[in-house]
Amino acid sequence: METYPWWNEKQEKLAEEARKFADESLPRGEEIAWTKEFPADLLKAVAEKGWFGALIPEAYGGVDAGVTGCCIVAEELSRICSALVGAYSVTMFGGVEQLLKFGDEEQRKRWLPQVVKGMLGAICITEPSIGSDAAGIETTAKLEGNEYVLNGKKRFITNAGVADIYCVYAKTSDRREDRAKYRHLSAFIVEKGMPGFTVERINELGGWIGLPNGFLSFDDARVPVENRLGAEGDGWKVLVDGLNFERNLFAAGMLGPMREAIKYAVGHAQRRLQFNRPTIDFEVNQFKIADMFARLQTARLLTYHSARLMDMKTEAVMEATSAKLYASEAYERLVIDAQQVMGGDGWTRFYPLETFVRDAKVNQLGAGTSEVMRMVLFRQGLRAMRDELKMPHRHMHPKLGIPISTMKPAVVAEVNEKTLLEMLAEDYLVNPGLYMSKGDMKEKLAGVSDEKLDELLTSLEAKGFIKLYKDRRGNIALAKATYKGLKEAKPPEYYQWFPEWMNKDHLF
Ligand SMILES: Cc1cc2nc3c(=O)[nH]c(=O)nc-3n(C[C@H](O)[C@H](O)[C@H](O)COP(=O)(O)OP(=O)(O)OC[C@H]3O[C@@H](n4cnc5c(N)ncnc54)[C@H](O)[C@@H]3O)c2cc1C
Repeated sequence: METYPWWNEKQEKLAEEARKFADESLPRGEEIAWTKEFPADLLKAVAEKGWFGALIPEAYGGVDAGVTGCCIVAEELSRICSALVGAYSVTMFGGVEQLLKFGDEEQRKRWLPQVVKGMLGAICITEPSIGSDAAGIETTAKLEGNEYVLNGKKRFITNAGVADIYCVYAKTSDRREDRAKYRHLSAFIVEKGMPGFTVERINELGGWIGLPNGFLSFDDARVPVENRLGAEGDGWKVLVDGLNFERNLFAAGMLGPMREAIKYAVGHAQRRLQFNRPTIDFEVNQFKIADMFARLQTARLLTYHSARLMDMKTEAVMEATSAKLYASEAYERLVIDAQQVMGGDGWTRFYPLETFVRDAKVNQLGAGTSEVMRMVLFRQGLRAMRDELKMPHRHMHPKLGIPISTMKPAVVAEVNEKTLLEMLAEDYLVNPGLYMSKGDMKEKLAGVSDEKLDELLTSLEAKGFIKLYKDRRGNIALAKATYKGLKEAKPPEYYQWFPEWMNKDHLF
């Protein structure tokens, strides 16, 4: 696959080598789809290449290729098998990222060089009763001397059992004020073998073959204070901060199967003859393949754009969330289309397509569901584009007689019930089905205070001239003139306008 013009030499070299490794390892990946083995041998090879250190600075033995480098590795590993990219990526966002951002020097020195050598990590947020609502974590951590005592259960934990370090989020405060400020959680690195920490169960999944996923139990598990990441109460900060990276890397891990699926769909359609023609000659198949290219290009570009922003130390919330959401939906559509292009063969297990189809769905669940992605995008998008999203004022064009936008509203100099009602009448002309927002009113009513405006609006409502809408806090948010108010504000001619081409005989 193409490299991007902004990649540095190190990243380009990484892409070339990782691609070669993936090409050579594809047969082993296919075996795993049948044997369900954990790909320990492949992970060992990845560690030997130094790629576990893609994100890790050279000071700790890494290659320091940034989020971009990490995504490059994940993309190529994801071509081989989901268990491989899953174990790799979870290690990156289940320890490495948190240690780099929140770990102290001693913690980094202790664990990062081991990760470079291939030690696996895990991220432990989800619990039996806690999924999307991560702030509701029930696992507790109580400080006793120099140790925290953890009690609770985690579930859906990828790398359960195979990981040596587990980035665990637990509740350290029940105080209402701490909960309100999201200061109730703390993050810990819990190590395999610590007393009271056990793997409770391994789940059978519908995909991600060969990747252990399970329940963890903390039964008076004793974790030294030195294993806490950040200060007590920083847990939510650590958790949220890691999510953007996690989502970005998740997106990168979908690009490999998308590329492989296209390869199989095209290769199959070039070799399959129906009605004496290769099936690739049928436009319906060509269009599906064209859409596959567009989906791959878009998902890939979003992923590496977001990675680049993170490497530039930008939060990239919108970009990482969009990349994860888009890639997961594009991936699913793409593999389903690839199956269709391949006909019945696409649904057999003769080709790896079938495993991609099984894996596609989980990307819309793990690392935050698509609904959660949309919630983040909605809120963040409104905030990020606040200035651009400002609705223009509108006024009647004197000649055309139609509403025209303007950023500079005509200001009403004298503010009283009459001028306010007239303003709402004008708003009926230019935005006939809408209420007028209080913010828009204030821009037009020079210098009016909230109290004064509320008083005038309340009085007009009491007279039946306007209708108000109050927000959840009971504050006036929107207003519109009623029919009675429109009549009171202006004569009927004010509201009338007919285009010149209208036959006047038809008007009454
Ligand atoms: C294969 C796999 C691997 C995983 N690996 C890990 C891991 O390594 N570590 C870890 O901590 N977790 C892991 N998870 C857990 C994963 O992050 C959660 O499954 C995910 O956050 C959703 O939680 P849930 O499954 O409990 O769904 P729920 O939160 O119960 O949601 C059910 C449905 O309701 C919707 N919903 C929930 N709340 C809202 C809302 N406020 N508004 C609108 N819709 C809403 C959801 O989008 C979803 O469609 C993994 C999950 C899977 C399936």
